[in-house]
Amino acid sequence: MENSEKFHFTAISDACIKCGKCIPGCTIHLINPDETTSPRGFIDLLGAYERGELELDRNAKEIFESCFLCTHCTEVCPNSLPTDMVIEEVRRDIAEKFGIAWFKRAFFTLLRHRKLMDWMMKLGYTFRTCGFKEEPSKGGMIPRFPLPIVKSGRLLPSLGKTSFLNKYPEEIPHGGKRRVAIFIGCLANYNYTTIGDSLVEILETLGIDVFIPKKQMCCAAPAYFTGDFYTVETLAKRNIEYFESFIDEVEAIIIPEATCSAMIKHDWEVFFRNRGMEEWAERARRLNEKIFMATEWLAEHTDLTERLAATGTRMPRSVTYHDACHARKVQGIWQQPRTLLRQNYEIKEMSDPNRCCGFGGVTMQTEKYHLAEAAGKPKAAMIDETGAQIVSAECSACRMQISNSLHQADVDVVFKNPVELIAEALRKR
Ligand code: SF4
Ligand code: SF4
Repeated sequence: MENSEKFHFTAISDACIKCGKCIPGCTIHLINPDETTSPRGFIDLLGAYERGELELDRNAKEIFESCFLCTHCTEVCPNSLPTDMVIEEVRRDIAEKFGIAWFKRAFFTLLRHRKLMDWMMKLGYTFRTCGFKEEPSKGGMIPRFPLPIVKSGRLLPSLGKTSFLNKYPEEIPHGGKRRVAIFIGCLANYNYTTIGDSLVEILETLGIDVFIPKKQMCCAAPAYFTGDFYTVETLAKRNIEYFESFIDEVEAIIIPEATCSAMIKHDWEVFFRNRGMEEWAERARRLNEKIFMATEWLAEHTDLTERLAATGTRMPRSVTYHDACHARKVQGIWQQPRTLLRQNYEIKEMSDPNRCCGFGGVTMQTEKYHLAEAAGKPKAAMIDETGAQIVSAECSACRMQISNSLHQADVDVVFKNPVELIAEALRKR
């Protein structure tokens, strides 16, 4: 309890007016309609935990690990209570009390050691066909035999032959007038590598120099959502020191990934403030004015929209756009990708683009996969209903979850990041 006290679980619990506005759209409550698995229930239990009235036993662990951290509750709460943040905080206590499963510890160790991760991914790519069947049309691969932690028949992200960071030189000049850095994120670096290729291609069209900071590390979101705060502190500090070394020489750091962007722009500062590390919180805050999601920066700081319109290209396949929680709810980014895509694609809106896809983090994708699977079904159904051939979102975690949900539901719709679609349209000029 010592470390959690400073997060004022009781104060947040007391500030809840029990209006219930957060409940109808809560991702876990939608699939498990019980008061204990609702935002109001979670913060009530956290208050009881802080007052010593609730033991952090396995049952409480199960409850607190069932939150998808989708931030719907924070967005709609009239008191703006940060339910997602207090759940993240209590997961540190859970990790300390129960430990972190071996496979998650191994994964977080790799995230802290880029070279080792590079080597593991190369090894995985070389031998992937031994264990997996490639499904290029679905953008993934399926295990050939039962694996620990992974349910059979699941569609997992394919591995790229060379990671994005190892494929390109550090400097890619395109005229020398403007210069931006790319933060790529781990899934786009190792798995969905065409996202980075497309972003470089778009910046070339715009005549903007590209700086690829080779020493960038994982943003730490997977560890933050799991309660491994040692990994969060290590990765955030290393990235902050590194970003500071080049931030004055670039116009922006652009990120084609909602979760990484939200983590860097929002959660690093919150994380350090919550631990009383004010100097690091300030350093994280100062970087923020130059951190952007890729479509946000391209739509607001370049003439890409006009250029796309000027091509006059109408792409044959229609698109339905999913709003990643970390893009729309956390950063308010939802119009920018649509504005860009609309120039060349027909957009068919799904019934609830803002509903969480059900990715939920490493624990949800492994030990609690049944919850991710249940949350993914309605999203797959609403995508199918649109009749669109492509579903897009600027988030590779959504891509992993939605691609699998579509595969499980036998829906023939392909997932693309908006920057991939924009690059495709530009190629048709
Ligand atoms: S973050 Fe999402 S899943 Fe968790 S309590 Fe809030 S609305 Fe429910
Ligand atoms: S919306 Fe906010 S105040 Fe209302 S019940 Fe949910 S957490 Fe409490």
